[in-house]
Amino acid sequence: MTKIKRIALVAHDNRKTDMVEWVEWNWKKLIKYDLICTGTTGKLVNETLLRKMDIDTTVTISMKLLKSGPLGGDQQLGALISEGKVDMLIFLWDPMTPQPHDVDVKALLRLATLYNIPTAFNRSTADFLISSPLMESNYTPIIKDYGSYINRKLDIK
Ligand code: PGA
Repeated sequence: MTKIKRIALVAHDNRKTDMVEWVEWNWKKLIKYDLICTGTTGKLVNETLLRKMDIDTTVTISMKLLKSGPLGGDQQLGALISEGKVDMLIFLWDPMTPQPHDVDVKALLRLATLYNIPTAFNRSTADFLISSPLMESNYTPIIKDYGSYINRKLDIK
């Protein structure tokens, strides 16, 4: 990764208002990046950016729109992270409500940690990330070398 370019945005239903407010607050920065969103979050982010840009709603922002989270969007996003196609994750998840796709959420958080991408789970961390000088500089996350794991000898009879 050189400059942060591809930012994934995801919000659970009880955190979507937070996401919309955060996007309203940061829209001038966000339109410079490639956004990747789960389905419902993406529609809201798109509408919010268009409203802030004062553009006709038939125009679409450059955004990769995945499936809705519970319908596979979180897993799609995890796959993109494992392929090195996501530079940052803003995931406003709901700590008070069990989700039907809890296992997918856990898998997404795990991959974001495994691949050491900058990740925010709440608005204040998202504020710190988007304001970081590192957003505009070259930055390559250090990823642990899993070579010995991949090449481990298995005792298969
Ligand atoms: P959504 O998915 O943006 O489609 O609501 C978010 C999630 O629950 O992972």
